[in-house]
Amino acid sequence: MSVIKVHDKSFEIYLSEETILLRIKELAAEIAKDYTGKRPLFIAILNGSFMFASDLFKYLNIEAEICFIKLASYKGMKSSGNVVTSIGLDDDLFDKEVVIVEDIVDTGKTLHNFLPKLVHQQPKSLKIVTLLHKPEATEYPLQLDYVGFDIPNKFVIGYGLDYDGLGRNLKEIYQLV
Ligand code: 5GP
Repeated sequence: MSVIKVHDKSFEIYLSEETILLRIKELAAEIAKDYTGKRPLFIAILNGSFMFASDLFKYLNIEAEICFIKLASYKGMKSSGNVVTSIGLDDDLFDKEVVIVEDIVDTGKTLHNFLPKLVHQQPKSLKIVTLLHKPEATEYPLQLDYVGFDIPNKFVIGYGLDYDGLGRNLKEIYQLV
């Protein structure tokens, strides 16, 4: 089925399961090349990045750690980006090679607000991997070190991303019709 209904909206398929996985394998290979012997710590941002983080980590054939954190920032179809707090960041990041794992970077506000908290802990390095990026929506420019797909400025769901709680379990990524 290529058009689906979630709550009151229709979404059409945008990226297939195969396309997503193929790109994730490429990202994993690129990251593995850059971090061989460095034992990076991946910090995956919940909820949206859980599927991406899982697949990326699965295909990463180097020694690495992962933890999951939650930021309070987003409701409905508009990203507020006002990061209030992070939950679950117990690791001491001092001198660590840190890679943030995001599902999507839209305006950039969420990471813009959150990154200083990590920088404060003086990691050895800090990079960002995001599955999706909406270049046209940028309000807070960030250095995105690894990007899965640049996408148009349209609302998307699936593969971990939701619309008001639903759609996260879709294997594909859908965009608003
Ligand atoms: P930013 O702060 O970069 O504007 O937005 C980041 C957060 O907004 C993402 O982590 C995600 O939770 C939410 N977001 C932004 N665009 C979309 C979208 O197209 N679909 C969904 N489901 N969430 C989005």
